[in-house]
Amino acid sequence: MSPSPASFQQAGRPPAFSYREVRKGLVRRNLQSVLSCDSVPLSQLAERYGTPLYVYSATTIRERLRTFDRAFRKAPHTVCYSVKANSNLGILRLLNRVGCGFDVVSGGELERVLTVDRGAGRRVVFSGVGKTAEEMRLALRDGILLFNVESESELWQLGECAARLKKKPPIALRVNPHVSAETHPYIATGLHQHKFGIPVEQARKLYAGASANRHLAVSGVSVHIGSQITGPEPFAEAIERVAELVRQLRSDGHRIEYVDAGGGLGISYENSDAPRFRDQVVNYAEAIIRPLRGLKVHVLLEPGRAIVGPAGTLITSVLYVKDNDGKRFVVTDAAMNDLLRPSLYGAYHEIVPVKRNANSANTKVDIVGPICETGDFFARDRQLPEVQEGDLLAVLDAGAYGMALSSNYNSRPRAAEVLVQGRSAQLIRRRESFQDLVRPELF
Ligand SMILES: *Cc1c(COP(=O)(O)O)cnc(C)c1O
Repeated sequence: MSPSPASFQQAGRPPAFSYREVRKGLVRRNLQSVLSCDSVPLSQLAERYGTPLYVYSATTIRERLRTFDRAFRKAPHTVCYSVKANSNLGILRLLNRVGCGFDVVSGGELERVLTVDRGAGRRVVFSGVGKTAEEMRLALRDGILLFNVESESELWQLGECAARLKKKPPIALRVNPHVSAETHPYIATGLHQHKFGIPVEQARKLYAGASANRHLAVSGVSVHIGSQITGPEPFAEAIERVAELVRQLRSDGHRIEYVDAGGGLGISYENSDAPRFRDQVVNYAEAIIRPLRGLKVHVLLEPGRAIVGPAGTLITSVLYVKDNDGKRFVVTDAAMNDLLRPSLYGAYHEIVPVKRNANSANTKVDIVGPICETGDFFARDRQLPEVQEGDLLAVLDAGAYGMALSSNYNSRPRAAEVLVQGRSAQLIRRRESFQDLVRPELF
């Protein structure tokens, strides 16, 4: 069953978000429990920057990246953070500083990475099912680590672009291992009926074609079976098929240096008895490393959600509380344009009050945004402590696919974003203005 906010209020999710006793007013002993990011009370950030507001914990992002590195320490590997999960330059800079690589799926994402560090290309892998010639040229000029090619036509297109620029890019084919992962149908990608990759049975022939092209350097095999996959089994199954293919390809005479295991490791949106993140990553690493034992490949990893998801929250103010025929609605100033996951995937996000009041009883409410769509909701029939108009709520685990999927629907300016590091908070994206919205329009 869905956990009540009480379970969170006892445990918290340190270090990113936990309740701290903060002095209320001027009287020293008058304390209030306020949800904080690292050691900054979220109420303080809401006051300074307004709401809706995304807040991220730099400490948590770094720690989660380190968890991956530790779990894979026995295998030569590079973590290439999946930029699409959260592409804010401040977050990319933070990851770049600790030597993280990047997985991009568009020219725009590559430009973001290069904006942060001109020299980061060597740590970039380029995935995506529809790369344009223009995007390929950008990546070729930059000399990226690996192109993950998803179709035969794309392979020849890349060969042509490379020939024109006199380059020989390292390539991997993204194979579709026909592994089913238990996740939302919109984010499962590993079956043949999905648009992604090349059926593993056809790969060998295509590798032969690729290595016959003077402008392509066959270097690896790549796979990505979907997102929000919580158990290790589908990963193990996919990598077993990849390992088998690597052996075949090597016996065919190809030099296979890299295995790109993709991303997709899920997080626990419902807090109940979640395995500890470290244990989860250790099991995941085991699932990937074991089938590759003895192959001496360099492993590439593309986690997105697992790095930034729990490191971010969306702070919103309660605008109105209304009762319709026995049903209570809490109307917030954030909406589906700020955080689309509940509307798009029916996704669950834990929602807690920023200021905890020990005495208030839970009531069942729908938490909804102001957009003119019935699908604009964050939670339905959710137990929430009594809230009043003006109160602040925190939508947890919103660091991945939150801001990245936001839009200006209903002509709503996008939220601001703040990165917290210990006791300091840095604005990493200012709130959009009306002028920002209409700037590209001509009339
Ligand atoms: C989306 C995506 C990822 C990241 O997925 P997460 O579930 O956020 O880890 C990695 N690789 C590719 C190719 C992707 O499309």
